[in-house]
Amino acid sequence: MAALAHAGVALASKRIAPKVPVWILLIAAYVIDIVWGIFFFAGIEQLPALDSSTTNPWSHGLLMAVIWSLLSGFLMMLVSRDRYTSLVIGALVFSHWIIDFISHPMTAAFPGDTGLSLLFDGSPTVGLGLWSTQLGINIGEYGTLMVGILIYIFTLQKLREEKRSV
Ligand SMILES: [Zn+2]
Repeated sequence: MAALAHAGVALASKRIAPKVPVWILLIAAYVIDIVWGIFFFAGIEQLPALDSSTTNPWSHGLLMAVIWSLLSGFLMMLVSRDRYTSLVIGALVFSHWIIDFISHPMTAAFPGDTGLSLLFDGSPTVGLGLWSTQLGINIGEYGTLMVGILIYIFTLQKLREEKRSV
């Protein structure tokens, strides 16, 4: 799940994709959670539970994360006709899984968390567990968000200067 860190990654990615509107970067970084929301309302996936493991493999499993990333990149290709932008968007969608891989199991918030599925229910789960301590959560969430905001501000400044010098 990891809430704020994804926004940090999206803001930082403005540096490598200055032409893409920031709201598209933000949506891309949260596609996997948006998919989870749809599956949640469809009754296929669950809210994270305190005492049991809810891996939600249809949104957050490695295999499906790869598929959602490829699909997002492909959709971006249809819309933008720009291979680089599509690659960035696909990578950004997948960055969600990377961040979640670093953060899960988030046992400091959800003691029953076992990590992310590789495939579907019953398959092995993985994760580095940075969010297994409150300190890890704080550094991971707020640290990543702060760094992302800084990179974003510097990028906007640089873009403004470039415009002025043309
Ligand atoms: Zn997530």
